[in-house]
Amino acid sequence: MKGLRLFRILGIPVSVNYTWFIIFGLIAWSLASSYFPHYYPDLSRSAHWAMGFFAAVFLFLSVLAHELTHSYIAKREGIEVGEIILFIFGGVSQLLKEPEDPRKELKMAIGGPACSLVLALVFWILSKVTSQNPDLVLFTGLVEYLAVINLSLAIFNLIPGFPLDGGRVLRALYWKKTGSLRRATQVASAIGKSTGVGIILLGLFLVLGGNLLGGFWLVIIGIFLRSAAEGGFQQTVMKSALQGVKVKELMSHGVISVEPSLRIDRLVEDFYLTYTHLTYPVTESEKIIGIITLDRVKEIPRDQWTEKTVREVMIPTREEILLDPEGEAVDALQKMIRTREGRLPVVKDGKAVGMVTRRDILNLLEIKTDLGKD
Ligand SMILES: [Zn+2]
Repeated sequence: MKGLRLFRILGIPVSVNYTWFIIFGLIAWSLASSYFPHYYPDLSRSAHWAMGFFAAVFLFLSVLAHELTHSYIAKREGIEVGEIILFIFGGVSQLLKEPEDPRKELKMAIGGPACSLVLALVFWILSKVTSQNPDLVLFTGLVEYLAVINLSLAIFNLIPGFPLDGGRVLRALYWKKTGSLRRATQVASAIGKSTGVGIILLGLFLVLGGNLLGGFWLVIIGIFLRSAAEGGFQQTVMKSALQGVKVKELMSHGVISVEPSLRIDRLVEDFYLTYTHLTYPVTESEKIIGIITLDRVKEIPRDQWTEKTVREVMIPTREEILLDPEGEAVDALQKMIRTREGRLPVVKDGKAVGMVTRRDILNLLEIKTDLGKD
């Protein structure tokens, strides 16, 4: 999922998913128009809105603190963290690898909810301290809400469905017992999926009973959990199968490259109809300057084939279309998915030294998963 990069903290980039802005508005609005007016009917409308806005901001910071705890523990355990992406009711810490043993997984999974529980306790104590003072009523209302929301974050994340924290705890315990990460992930995400469906049904039930807002929230959470459970399992299988496989082990050698000055009619005749590859690196004095793909060629009307050259049609080199021979196969696959290119050049010191296709990676994935490698 794409996000908007915000800042770096503890060396970890933090992004928000675009849905967050909608959710942020919805949360501020529902707090300002129903939650705070219900508990503090004597306060003005603008006071309710101020409380709603700050509550939403601090909810965001609470979720961030929760995710940072996961990432911090992961880093300390030697697991690289890609970035933190925050969305709806939580975030996802992108781990670049699966944890190597159940003990590390358990520590990491517990960290987030533990952080939320501590925050809930701190906000609760604060609210008890300030509730004596009527001048601080806005602040008291705010921290009271934050205590409740942090407690809910802890409880929600402890639902035993993978990839939620509770599901990770369950997975770690099952993994420890059976020794199979794959089996453990399968069980934990199956529970995650059915929990998601359960929450959706509960939400629909509430909607039918007249609680539109509450029911609507539950339906969204349920849908989110269901798809996360599904995606989480596939990702785990993929990551663990491709773990440690380098791009150079997968690439085909003997690259056939083309000159930028080549005309498209010659490119089609001498390359596409001769070698049947779909993508060729374009090189100038041995350095790669771009790639030419069949899709690009197809966009050029046939009567212009004799006028246009490869240089005018190619995709110029940029970081996203180049693979590093020492890079991980998983990252190569992610690059292909992001750029929608099925075949990318492997480049060392500016020279194309090989090509990797999506098929190469998927074939290996299929072989490894068929052999049941954990
Ligand atoms: Zn968590």
